[in-house]
Amino acid sequence: MASKRNTTFASHYPATGEIFGFFPIFSDDDVTGAVENARSVAAAWQGLDFSGRRKVLLAWSKLLIGRIDECAKLISDETGKPIGDAKLEVTLAIGHLAWAARNAREVLRPQHRTPGLLMANMAARVERSPLGVVGVIGPWNYPIFTPMGSIAYALAAGNTVVFKPSEFTPGVAVWLAETFSSVAPSHHIFSVVTGLGDTGRALCESGVDKLAFTGSTKTAKVVAATCAKTMTPVVLECGGKDPVIIAEDADIKTAADFTLWSAMSNAGQTCIGAERVYVHESVADQFTSTIVELGKKITPGAPGQGNYGPATMPKQLDVIKSHIADAIKKGGKALVGGLDSVKPPFVEPVILINVPEDSIAMQDETFGPVIIINRVKTMDEAVRLSNASRYGLGASVWSKRNGNKIASQLQCGMVAINSTISFAAVASVPFGGVKESGYGRIHGPEGLMEFTYARTVVRARFQLPVSFTSFGRSPFADKVIVGLVKALHGRSIG
Ligand code: NDP
Repeated sequence: MASKRNTTFASHYPATGEIFGFFPIFSDDDVTGAVENARSVAAAWQGLDFSGRRKVLLAWSKLLIGRIDECAKLISDETGKPIGDAKLEVTLAIGHLAWAARNAREVLRPQHRTPGLLMANMAARVERSPLGVVGVIGPWNYPIFTPMGSIAYALAAGNTVVFKPSEFTPGVAVWLAETFSSVAPSHHIFSVVTGLGDTGRALCESGVDKLAFTGSTKTAKVVAATCAKTMTPVVLECGGKDPVIIAEDADIKTAADFTLWSAMSNAGQTCIGAERVYVHESVADQFTSTIVELGKKITPGAPGQGNYGPATMPKQLDVIKSHIADAIKKGGKALVGGLDSVKPPFVEPVILINVPEDSIAMQDETFGPVIIINRVKTMDEAVRLSNASRYGLGASVWSKRNGNKIASQLQCGMVAINSTISFAAVASVPFGGVKESGYGRIHGPEGLMEFTYARTVVRARFQLPVSFTSFGRSPFADKVIVGLVKALHGRSIG
């Protein structure tokens, strides 16, 4: 349904519910206009070539570093997360921006390919061409880091970008676009369209050349269906139910410390945060008592007052509550917190054990400061249960000797061994999921390639004496080609 109204909506301070600011709701026409403007400068941006774009993007990253406090304050205001966490988020985003700017030329340079004996007269190469205009739709939980994983890589590859942020964090996005325009030749190269879900829908329908979506699996399916109508390709970065596997030979103290942080920091609102733990029974008591002890020491609060902030999106509180209730109803036991831990807008830490695998708390993304610990008899069982999920985003494995062996069996896009969520900070590796966690990749060389298309160019270096692609092809030519194929491939087994 086409929206024509152009009104405003408010974003809030999640800790108090007070209004942070008002932002315009971009209508269908407004979104189309933004995409047209982005298209009008696409050729010029592409024409700057890698070196020109690198200059602009590095100037932007320098500016962001210089104004990191301002950016962190905005993020903290709109999400409710502690300033320190917001600063960490900005530094990670800047790391990706700089990596994309510095590496785009090398990753996307034309590649020469061997044409094979039969086509030995040809020179073959593959070029990577920017797509044109990329639409980016982002979530609120990491309002700069998450979209930057698409924005920086799309821009560095030579595309222009129109970004629709979450309705919970429009201020961060508008600030981001303003800072870009102060270093860029045109503000249409990267622009922001604010609004509600309908503005996102309009961006999907606007004729962008690719749509990079980060958000829930539920919305991703709607986005994919909308984009399918115009054959707009999509990258989908969706939710997760990330497992943590603790082996017998794990460093239990560090594993407990890092897992707690992974599960509870940002109020548990991390797509790649720990949601369920499979711990070997021989170390389960030790792991559980260590994490419980640590968990009892942390508290939520407004920025400056707690280890983590409130739930940014109030309606998530009902989801968190329903997961805790179902886990306990089905036989799980709360060692820290419980149903009473949900104290809007905050959720105190919840640590549950022995929760049946069919509980919604084990099946669906909780997205709150809740961790479930189940014990297993073997690492095979841990792998099997980890994989028995509709999600496949990230995972952690804690083992001194068998980390690689366990990691290679996991059906997910990213695994950290003896570490947690660290893959998100390594700019040179791809980020993304499998199954209902999405498809396509951001970050790293794969993230740059995602925002280009391959153009194959083959060139005849000389004409063969025997011609195969001509109506004048002779019976002799047919014999030659069959003979050559027999000689080349007819005898090969294995
Ligand atoms: P949502 O799916 O609710 O929203 C994501 C974005 O989609 C928002 O900008 C939203 O706009 C927009 N949107 C809503 N409806 C439509 C529509 N019909 N068409 C197009 N766009 C639409 O996710 P959240 O913002 O709640 O983010 C949390 C989720 O994101 C979690 O599931 C988390 O796991 C996931 N996530 C995944 C990451 C990854 O890299 N895999 C990283 C970070 C988060 P509006 O806000 O205005 O409704």
